[in-house]
Amino acid sequence: MSTIFTHTAVAIGFSSWLERSPALKQTLIIGMLLSVVPDLDVIGFWFGIPYEHLLGHRGLSHSLLTAFILSGLSAWWVHQQYELNLYALWLYLGVCMMSHGFLDALTNGGLGIAFLSPFSNERFFFPFQPIEVATLNPIRFFQGQGLNVIATELLWVWLPCAFIFLLGLVWKTLTKK
Ligand SMILES: [Zn+2]
Repeated sequence: MSTIFTHTAVAIGFSSWLERSPALKQTLIIGMLLSVVPDLDVIGFWFGIPYEHLLGHRGLSHSLLTAFILSGLSAWWVHQQYELNLYALWLYLGVCMMSHGFLDALTNGGLGIAFLSPFSNERFFFPFQPIEVATLNPIRFFQGQGLNVIATELLWVWLPCAFIFLLGLVWKTLTKK
């Protein structure tokens, strides 16, 4: 995993592209939640589910299909509440949730991501893995490994996401009627 905070960077980065509306904050919060929710699968470790299992860490919860369905349901819910464009919401929330697996696939540790689960449990990494994997052990994290993690996440996640956020602001300004 990347650290939990860093997964939310994608939701924040793309939020400047969302339609300005009273629902912007709620949509952003849902996007941030969807960007971290796949890691709830670590609960499986306590129940003895092996890492490589379908329901193990980075398994079904990290798949593209799960992200597609959960982001669709969330988008539909927001759409019902606020009458915003369903497909724009789905696109945004889908990007937020799918980005989780993509960021994990850029880390240099653990097992790969089961993007195609439940159809295939094959685990994937990208050929380029610049992000230092975050340990699940908080003691090791604060003993120094954490600094390395934060540095690589700042460079490879927060910086590009800040750029995406700024681009969205510029685009909004240029297209303002
Ligand atoms: Zn993860």
